[in-house]
Amino acid sequence: MMQSREGQPLTSGTAQDLAAEAFENYKQYVNPPLARVMKLSGSPVEVRASGTTIWDQNGKAYLDFAGGYGVFTLGHSHPRVIAAVREQMDAMSLSGKTMFNVVLGRAAKRLAQLAPGDLQYSFWCNSGTEAVEGAVKLARAATGRSKIVATRDAYHGKTLGSLSISGRETFQTPFRPLLAGVAHVDFGDASQLDEALRDAAAFIVEPVQGEGGVNIPPDGYLRAVREACDRAGAVFIADEVQTGLGRCGYRFGCDREGVVPDVMTLAKGLSGGIIPVGAFIARPDVWNRAYAKQPLVHTSTFGGSEIACAAALAAMDVLEDEDLIANARDRGTQLLDGCHQLGAEFPHVIREARGLGLLVGVELTNEGYGGWIIPEMLKAGVTAAWTLNQQRVIRLEPPLVVTADEVDRALAALRAGVTTAAEKLGRL
Ligand code: PMP
Repeated sequence: MMQSREGQPLTSGTAQDLAAEAFENYKQYVNPPLARVMKLSGSPVEVRASGTTIWDQNGKAYLDFAGGYGVFTLGHSHPRVIAAVREQMDAMSLSGKTMFNVVLGRAAKRLAQLAPGDLQYSFWCNSGTEAVEGAVKLARAATGRSKIVATRDAYHGKTLGSLSISGRETFQTPFRPLLAGVAHVDFGDASQLDEALRDAAAFIVEPVQGEGGVNIPPDGYLRAVREACDRAGAVFIADEVQTGLGRCGYRFGCDREGVVPDVMTLAKGLSGGIIPVGAFIARPDVWNRAYAKQPLVHTSTFGGSEIACAAALAAMDVLEDEDLIANARDRGTQLLDGCHQLGAEFPHVIREARGLGLLVGVELTNEGYGGWIIPEMLKAGVTAAWTLNQQRVIRLEPPLVVTADEVDRALAALRAGVTTAAEKLGRL
């Protein structure tokens, strides 16, 4: 029904109806406060997407620099992934579970080939938080210990276990008591690890903290983490849900330091933004200590479905064949340079810009300024978003297929937003 094609907007009456319907339904049936916030920030209705672009109900195009929080590594609706899913759907969509699923086997094999070191056995689920839950359970079963150490400001998901190890009070407070035996250390400070990891089952860390505000650890941090986990006999879990699969200009965030974790979690880009997916992949030693004798202690009905695995197989191929990791690095440098330049021009609005590959964060001097900048960018035809644990940071996380011209257009939109903020400040 909602056929807004490029250059063929819906009739204005229909477009208005659609916007009113969406707002009303969000208000009545989805999430009233979210409906109000979205309306205030001028959110349109998404009706179609392709590559780096989303079109709204009026046929207006937006460069997607929020990138679905990092899901659309290959852009929206990559034709090779769509074709693979369509073909698989004609044969079989979901696993019947009692027979061998050949597509799951192939996807697991391909992931093991791409993953660093001897990471080998993978469990497939449907989201990032499920991958984290699975990794934490694996670490507990492998070590017979319960304590989990994580980092302050980390984001690992919102199911109870993942929430317990994440680092934002606002999201945790209503749900206490959370998982017992969780400790937090400062992200990037390896000197705190030996003490914290005593008797711990695992240390979980993002190679770059995404939702914590795009925080990049000092060089050598992941190597120091590896050594500290070895000394303590703790499982090193790298949460690569956001950093993995090219986002940071490396195939995996851990590759930046040539480090092999014991367990790696993935989701977001893993199936090319077409079908929900998540996975954790583990080294044989850890896996065998936990699950060699118990094949069914960790399961998921939908996990490892044929369509998700077919999408993942195609997505992993596209990532390599189209050289997207190199593009993430080049376009990331261009984007970050542009943000640095804006920061130098508007130091009273932008405190700092930082990033790795196409995970870029623009830290503002005040968390309120995002409320001016993001809607202004939207008006200029570019989406952007806050990071979930740090509202002072605007994230720019476009598809890895983004072009140099599109990065320039996004920087122009950011400039418009920051200029508006500076003007408003001047009038205060
Ligand atoms: N881990 C990390 C590092 C993430 O960035 C996220 C999502 N932003 C998650 C876990 C949770 O993923 P999901 O929203 O798919 O549950």
